[in-house]
Formats: sequence, structure tokens, C-alpha cells
Amino acid sequence: MRLAAKEEYFDEPTCEHNGVAKEKKACKTATPGSSTGGCALDGAYIVLSPIKDALNIVHAPINCLGNSYNQRTSKAISGKEYYMYGFTTAMNENDLIFGSEDKLKHGITYVYNRFKPQGIFVYNTCVPALTGEDIEGVSKELTAKFKIPIVPVFSQGFSGNKNLGNKIAGDALFTHIIGKKEPVIDLLGDFNINLIGEYNIKGELFLIKKALKTIGINVLSTITGDSTIEEIMYSHKSELNVVICSKALVYLARKMKEKFGIPYIEESFFGMTSTNRAVIDIVNSIGNMKLIRKAKDYIKIMTKNTEEKIYGYKKFLTGRKVLLFTGGVKSWSLISALNDLGLRVIATGVKKSTDEDKLRIKEFDENGNIIMLDNGNPVNLIKIAKENEADIILAGGRNQYTAIKSLIPFLDVNQERLEPYTAYEGIEFLAKRIYSEIKNPLFKLLKESI
Ligand code: SF4
Repeated sequence: MRLAAKEEYFDEPTCEHNGVAKEKKACKTATPGSSTGGCALDGAYIVLSPIKDALNIVHAPINCLGNSYNQRTSKAISGKEYYMYGFTTAMNENDLIFGSEDKLKHGITYVYNRFKPQGIFVYNTCVPALTGEDIEGVSKELTAKFKIPIVPVFSQGFSGNKNLGNKIAGDALFTHIIGKKEPVIDLLGDFNINLIGEYNIKGELFLIKKALKTIGINVLSTITGDSTIEEIMYSHKSELNVVICSKALVYLARKMKEKFGIPYIEESFFGMTSTNRAVIDIVNSIGNMKLIRKAKDYIKIMTKNTEEKIYGYKKFLTGRKVLLFTGGVKSWSLISALNDLGLRVIATGVKKSTDEDKLRIKEFDENGNIIMLDNGNPVNLIKIAKENEADIILAGGRNQYTAIKSLIPFLDVNQERLEPYTAYEGIEFLAKRIYSEIKNPLFKLLKESI
């Protein structure tokens, strides 16, 4: 049984804060309250649940899982689409006293017989971790019985926050799935890459893949949007790992580099500038001259087309002010997209950001004026928005009514967002949405009636 998070999760040689990591917010071991806004279970579930032919069982009292249906808004082209389902053993008081390994076995057996998934992830949580349930032993026993990977995920929330959960999930894939199968020759293209940390929210992966495919790059495996257990098993055959907007999953990319020799780069596909940069970085890393030329031509055409399509929106949006309050990497990756639209970001939330995320914010902060917001309570958010005359708040669903009740236009940019915002088409969707929200006549009417 594994109670504490592995020490190596806090030892990241690629992180400039290594060695002092325990004092740093995003990497440190848990302290009371550090899981507010998402514990390790949440982080692990985000990474693993988009795999469309695997099922997820949270071994916990019923509250840990939250909604059991369609919790995330990942999309899948075809297949079983099991990412819509979530299962829990719903532990109760009896289970605390008498143990619940049999209940867990029964749950795994039920979902296997009922759905015939290609893999099952079993999440440990605070309660069974403290009572000492052997989820590793149960998983091993049933893996041998059902001949599919049944993977224990040591994501008990007291170990740490969401970022740590991402790492734990990456480790589970590295230990139990990656490298376990070879791809058939038809699946390999001339240039094969993996995308790590892309969960296909609202189909964002499809837009990224479309751009890469046009140039001639084959995405062999995505970890984990629209993916299958099998494609993750043969992901070790790619020549490059592209980590998308995820500091925590650099851990997985580094492990794959050490074991399989696959180099990795970190990129973002939010906005035109970032997409152009990502494409160029990918082809430069592959190093094929023909591919580089093709990518440069493609970027030229797409930039021109996209500029034309967003022209009208950009004319209206230029100079308008945005308060951005979202988690982790989106605190900087979205700034790039908003800069593309001529918008001015007045403040961005850094509650869940690492120090590196904060450095990236400074990179995109053209005038050096962006306020870094650690305190996201509604009163503070509205105070900052009003003091700085924000035209719109971009945040997650929980801030929606805070904004609207204060008569400030709002757009959800977290997982409940309505459209994909990546790559070239994504910036058009984003422009259109922000334009529509700011232009919404309701706010003007309401202000006049007060
Ligand atoms: S795993 Fe622990 S911290 Fe996370 S939701 Fe369950 S009880 Fe809460």
C-alpha cells in the first residue's frame, strides 16, 4: 500500500526551482487547505478520464467523485466514449469498520462484465488510504483475471493538489501502459509525435491535429484526449513528445525521454501567435528541411486567412480590457490569444500557477501592467474589475454569477467552455464569443434601469 506521494514527484530536474520545491506553491507537499480547488484525485481524474475505451472507478465515499456523468467536456470521434461515465464504490460506515476490498473487487468485476473496457483505472482516495485498503493487490489480482490493465492510481487527496494528481496519473500511465505494445505499420507516418496534456475539451485536439496533419505530421498518440489504451501503449514509438500547457506532465515527458530516448518540447496552441510558434518549434525539433519549408508556407497562409476572418472583431475588441481568472497554465497561455485580438489583460489569476507560469505571464505582459491575482474571492474579483474598468471577465463557471450580478459581461474559458479555442479556428471562436458577450445589449439596458 502506498500512503505518501513518491518523493520523486517533488524532484523535477527540469524545474528551475528544484531543490527548493517544497517551499514552492505548486510543487510542495500538502498542507491543510492546499487541496482547495482540486485535490490530487481531481488532478489524476482530469488526466486519465478522457481515454475513451477505459473506465474509472473512484474508491471512496460518494462525495469524492462529484457528478458521475459527463464530468469533463472532452470529445471523442468514435469508439466507446467511456469518458462520459464515472464510477464510485460509494464507501459507507460499514466499509470503514469491516474493510471494502471485496466491494472494490465486485465493482471492478461489474464494470468489466457490463462494459468490456480495454482498461480500468482505480483511484485511491483519503478514506481507503487511511484505513489501509490494498488497491494495488486488488488491481493485480483482477488484471490477471480479466487480461486488461487494471491500474491503481495513488491519488489520495491528502497527498497534495491538482498538479500533483496530474503527475500521479502520468506515473500510472508510464508504469502500467506506455511501451506495452508496438504499433502496426499503417499507423506510422513519416513524422510521428505525441501530444501530452491535451484533453480535447470541446474538440480542441481536433483543431490542433488538423493543422499538424496538413503539414504532414502524424499524431501517433494523445495523452489523453480522444485516445485509446492501445494508442497510449505504443506512444513510445514517436520521435517527439509535445507537452501542451502542462507543467505537471513534463514529469511524464522526462520519464519517457530517460527510458525511450524521446525528446520533448513544451508548447501552447491558444491563439495564432502561440500556434505559429508551436508549429515552428515542432518542425524544427524534427529537423526535416522539406517539412520546415512546408510549415512556414502553411503558417503564412493561415495567418493571413485568420487575420482576415478576425478583422471585424479585432477592430471592435482592440484596447478593451479583460480580467482573466483561470487556473495554472491558462493564466498565461490565454494571454497570448487575447493579445492576438488586441485585448488588454488587466489582471490574471495565479492561485494555482507555478513560479514558471508567473514568468510566462511576464513574457506576454507587453506593458508590464498585468496584476497577478492570488485572491479569487468574489468581492476582490469585482473590486479589481471595477477599479480597472474591465469590459469582460474570462473565468470558470463558478465566477459566472459573480460577474453577471455585477453587470460585467462574462465568458467561461474553463472546461465548461462552449467552443474550442485552440489553433487557427479557435481564435475565431474566441473572438466571436468575446465580441458577443461585450456587445450583449442586456447589460446596457440593466445599467440604465438601475
Ligand atoms: S480524495 Fe480526499 S481531498 Fe480529495 S475529494 Fe476525496 S476526501 Fe476530499
